[in-house]
Amino acid sequence: MAKIFCVANQKGGVGKTTSAVNLAAGLAKVGQRVLLVDLDPQGNATMGSGVDKRQLELSVYDVLLESASIKEAAIFSEKCAYHVLGANRELAGAEVELVDLERRDQRLKLALAAADSDFDFVLIDCPPSLSMLTLNGLCAAHGVIVPMQCEYFALEGLTDLVNTIKQVHANLNPDLKIIGLLRVMFDPRITLQQQVSDQLKSHFGDKVFNTVIPRNVRLAEAPSYGLPGVVFDPSAKGSQAFVEFAKELVQRIPSL
Ligand code: ADP
Ligand code: MG
Repeated sequence: MAKIFCVANQKGGVGKTTSAVNLAAGLAKVGQRVLLVDLDPQGNATMGSGVDKRQLELSVYDVLLESASIKEAAIFSEKCAYHVLGANRELAGAEVELVDLERRDQRLKLALAAADSDFDFVLIDCPPSLSMLTLNGLCAAHGVIVPMQCEYFALEGLTDLVNTIKQVHANLNPDLKIIGLLRVMFDPRITLQQQVSDQLKSHFGDKVFNTVIPRNVRLAEAPSYGLPGVVFDPSAKGSQAFVEFAKELVQRIPSL
């Protein structure tokens, strides 16, 4: 059975897409069959996986509107060694088009059920808001991976996300839980980051992943080459951290 995880945080620019594409590449590197679902109309995860969002014949939009299956719409990225269910601007329209449809928040879940045996991991890159798109992600997932920067306001944003996850858990998806908090763009020289990191660990215990993703310029450069850092420069500190994170996640699966 595929493990389905949303990469979510209501804040923009916290490293969701960077985490999603690099975790996908890291998991592929350690032999896992991975599908990356781009649920953000910006299509950054699509482009960052070497798939041109402007050339998509079928996308996650068609899957949500049930005019295509995942098998039909997902593209295998040769360079990245994982499948991508891409997104582009068209997806912004799905928000409105889904409103009047039945099971509108369960569309992705149903589509993924049909592809379950094809993948070990499905990672869903969510947009930075609680929209119908994010809700489709949260309803389809077994859990949420929350990338966060160790800054003062990060903790505040986390309260909102935790409440959202609780509500979806109670009303729509009893499977849903927080898989873990991933500390990203970490700079150990900054005392505040160290303090917030310690605070996170004391509040959330082993819900905080052991692996820490450092701030690393190669991870930021990679998208302009249409690649995850893990593929673009495997020797970079940030890339190595994501491969470590992939291994940690695989190890945690039995206890989830
Ligand atoms: P989100 O998807 O949450 O909006 P992104 O993954 O697009 O966030 O990241 C926001 C910006 O931060 C991007 O420019 C990205 O390249 C950069 N970034 C993300 N993670 C790192 C990192 N570990 N080190 C350096 N830059 C990073
Ligand atoms: Mg993003």
